[in-house]
Amino acid sequence: MRCCVRRWKRTEILRDIFKDFGSLDLDQHAFFFDFDGTLAEIAPRPQDVSLGFGIRRDILRLSERTNGAVAIITGRNRDEITPHLDATIPIAGLHGVDFPGNAADPDLAEKVAAIRPLLPALTDLVATYPGAVLEDKGQGLALHWRGAPSSEAVMLAAANQSLALLGANWRLQLGKSVAEIRPVGDDKGVALRRFMAQPPFADRRPIAFGDDLNDLPMLEAARESGGMAVALGERDLPADIHLSGPAELADWLERRLEA
Ligand SMILES: [Mg+2]
Repeated sequence: MRCCVRRWKRTEILRDIFKDFGSLDLDQHAFFFDFDGTLAEIAPRPQDVSLGFGIRRDILRLSERTNGAVAIITGRNRDEITPHLDATIPIAGLHGVDFPGNAADPDLAEKVAAIRPLLPALTDLVATYPGAVLEDKGQGLALHWRGAPSSEAVMLAAANQSLALLGANWRLQLGKSVAEIRPVGDDKGVALRRFMAQPPFADRRPIAFGDDLNDLPMLEAARESGGMAVALGERDLPADIHLSGPAELADWLERRLEA
């Protein structure tokens, strides 16, 4: 019981600090954001997602005011996110596998080769469900059915079949109207810890923002590093703070940065 009371108090204190941005010392905190569903509203197709003017401006302002202790940790390729922001914001892509400054993955060619034979059949399948999307991530692939909700069972079956063909070095990552197949390896929590081990993140308290199951390792890593987890949207992710979605996050950032 005592542990629960303590945890409740900690959560209350964190919630107060979070709501009162004035007491959130920007010299002592580092900020980690997922992209889709967190900074930007999710769109039927990943290529249709855009970042609002206000949140883009405020991420850059937050980065300036924390001396650069702001990073994006996304499931997408880094190259897809960079144009939305600014070269000054570090991005870890592919759930942390694609980390800035990492040496090239020696197994990359093999991984890409393993995915290729699956693409024609999946492309044909997706074409029969208008609104469904096959996303080729190079080192993985994702089936999206937000634009074709009735195809969910078919897409999940196709993802599971693909996984069975690829073998043990691959895993299935489920998200909101998406099934992704990616290599076993680093996750978003590993990426957060990697950022935290280097300047300007080191010696700060991380605050991580995410909206989906693939963000769980990142939210957990932030809490385990003495920081805070902020969950967005309807999924009941374990977190210290819950926000309704990207719009509330944008509003919070704007009000606090102008306070
Ligand atoms: Mg997301």
